[in-house]
Amino acid sequence: MDRKRQLLAGLPKVDEVLHDSRLEGFVGDTPRELVLDAVKEAIDERRQRILQSWEHMDDMEPAPFFDTIKEKIRQKRQHSLKRVVNATGVVLHTNLGRAALAESACQRLMEIGSGYSNLEYDVRKGARGLRNSHVEQMITKITGAEAAMAVNNNAAATLLCLSAMAEDREVIVSRGELVEIGGSFRVPEIMAQGGAVLVEVGTTNKTRLSDYENAITEETAALMKVHTSNYRIVGFTAEASLAELAALGKKRRLPVIYDMGSGLMVDLKRYGIDEPTVKESLRAGIDVILFSGDKLLGGPQAGIIAGKKIWIDAMKNHPLARIARIDKLTLAALEETFRIYLDEEQAVKEIPALAMLAMQPAELKKRGELLMRRLAGLSWCEAELIPVKEKAGGGCAPLAALDGFAVSISAQVPAEKLERELRKGECPVVARIIKDRVCFDLRTISDADTEIIIAAMRQAGEALHIMP
Ligand SMILES: *Cc1c(COP(=O)(O)O)cnc(C)c1O
Repeated sequence: MDRKRQLLAGLPKVDEVLHDSRLEGFVGDTPRELVLDAVKEAIDERRQRILQSWEHMDDMEPAPFFDTIKEKIRQKRQHSLKRVVNATGVVLHTNLGRAALAESACQRLMEIGSGYSNLEYDVRKGARGLRNSHVEQMITKITGAEAAMAVNNNAAATLLCLSAMAEDREVIVSRGELVEIGGSFRVPEIMAQGGAVLVEVGTTNKTRLSDYENAITEETAALMKVHTSNYRIVGFTAEASLAELAALGKKRRLPVIYDMGSGLMVDLKRYGIDEPTVKESLRAGIDVILFSGDKLLGGPQAGIIAGKKIWIDAMKNHPLARIARIDKLTLAALEETFRIYLDEEQAVKEIPALAMLAMQPAELKKRGELLMRRLAGLSWCEAELIPVKEKAGGGCAPLAALDGFAVSISAQVPAEKLERELRKGECPVVARIIKDRVCFDLRTISDADTEIIIAAMRQAGEALHIMP
């Protein structure tokens, strides 16, 4: 018991630690609040260890204790939200922020974010203006829709759409399209939240146009089609096409809503991505289309609603529109992203998501060779260029497997250990593991990322003591 008390009494005092010369030089301009937190945490952790296993503990050694504090300070100095290198090859990785913005869209963020703007001000009239006006014209021009609006995300777009068009009434959806998108977007739940009554028709694998038609009653408010973004039903299947649904809608005077998810603007079939485009979906004659800003559109997180003016007006005037409204920074980046689509060839080059998806194996291989040359400087590992299959991600084209290349690393440590170490730096590198090897998939790596990967590998080599 005495030993335990002795150890507790030996715990350093916060003030002493703060004024220790070992810290004074290290702290620099780190806010005092963060240094204080680090010191208190380190002391507290030691106290807990003493209370739990004092029998096995020696007197405090200052050097490792101060190393712990320094590591804590280093971590606290970093922002929580930070850049990472995406070496997974998944272009629209929801956990890694989905689409990277085009350079010109980023410039707009700076410009609009750093000052005042005409967000809700009509400069010509000198009177109140409309937030939505900044994107509506561009969206209708690019998509061919009559009217459009942008909200916080596609989940919000769906909720707003159902609330404005179908509250307390029925919406007919195929059983094959009761989608769940990662996280918490589930068609039946969003339907209930929007106050609409979901009427399921058909079966999981087959839904015919007649199934919709037979389910129409006095209570029906709309027919809805949901794009099966992240899965496909294959084999013995049937579904009603958008054009068929649009024709049925016209015949029965019911609007047709299409939640398309991905928001693809340019045809990517030649790159192996078989997804419908917004324009062709609207041309099928539907009334309202909904899609995300940060999936295949390649812009910021947003939900885009485009279609017939009477429905878009109903949504603009609904109380939920204020709740789901888009922020000015998002608006700035979104307007610019749509502008880039004025020239489709340019869009495939300038919008990172599209440029990455369009990259051909030969280009990826070249990028891999650059990384291999830089890795050759590390004697503790061997690198090999391997062909891989990749997914677009972000709930898009679930069956598409793009041909790509990755640099596969072999070292004297388990792949999981190396992979974990690579995530510890100021700019974490998130890699793939294929066949027990850490792999850097080249589709989502930029040439600038190469240097970060090399630095992370150096650091990992030191931390794992595998540097010769
Ligand atoms: C991704 C997706 C959503 C959700 O979109 P968010 O922008 O993430 O809110 C809704 N519906 C479909 C079909 C989707 O693919």
